[in-house]
Amino acid sequence: MSVLTIDGVWKEFHGHSVLRGIDLEVNPHEVVSLIGASGSGKSTLLRCVNLLETVDDGAIFLDGEEITDPRVNVDHVRRRLGIVFQAFNLFPHMTVLDNITLAPRQVHGVGRAAAEEQAHGLLARFGLADKARAYPDQLSGGQQQRVAIIRALATQPRLMLLDEVTSALDPELVVEVLGIIRELKESGMTMILTTHEMGFCRDISDTVCFLDGGVLVEKGPAEQIFTAPEHPRTREFLRSVL
Ligand code: ADP
Ligand code: MG
Repeated sequence: MSVLTIDGVWKEFHGHSVLRGIDLEVNPHEVVSLIGASGSGKSTLLRCVNLLETVDDGAIFLDGEEITDPRVNVDHVRRRLGIVFQAFNLFPHMTVLDNITLAPRQVHGVGRAAAEEQAHGLLARFGLADKARAYPDQLSGGQQQRVAIIRALATQPRLMLLDEVTSALDPELVVEVLGIIRELKESGMTMILTTHEMGFCRDISDTVCFLDGGVLVEKGPAEQIFTAPEHPRTREFLRSVL
């Protein structure tokens, strides 16, 4: 069964359709990238999955359960998602360790000792073992974003949603964040990501979706989209960014 199924999703803002009948299936361990010009609807689609936006038509299923059903428990759905955005959203007044253990302890009911043990394990795995007691403003942007990803991982999400997680970083810091995403893929995490890093996108994605004006114009294996896109608009977009 698919992890996520997006079925004919439409979304409009002030009478302007920004998602126009999006269909997408994400299978276990699959990495799906959304590419397209600014304003094409990538973030809105992720926000619909995360239930930060309601859809106007169509439906979204997570592990077979319709999460766009108005009766769904939103918190219950979000607990199964790991979300990281462009801006580092760490709590500035909390240490790295407390940032990471907050949701496992308060939302998932994990005890402090177990949550901290898991957090230390994740920090060690991603090269941040010595930062557990640091505050966010004592870290580089790349380190902060790695902590944000670790924080999302700490709740053992079914699906990770990563929206432009390297866009706010200086180029030399991008690579360390891309490295953690690559390792997540190797560990089998199912992910949907948006990125401007086309080389990385080609390298890491199983499936690439090109959005244009809220339409999912073309979808296919990364290698095919980057070497032999079928749609003229995909070709035009890739020419403009590669
Ligand atoms: P992308 O992430 O591909 O750059 P977005 O999903 O952010 O695109 O935006 C798609 C379109 O929806 C844009 O025209 C944007 O201005 C519009 N939009 C996004 N969020 C809102 C909102 N909350 N209110 C009104 N318009 C919005
Ligand atoms: Mg966006």
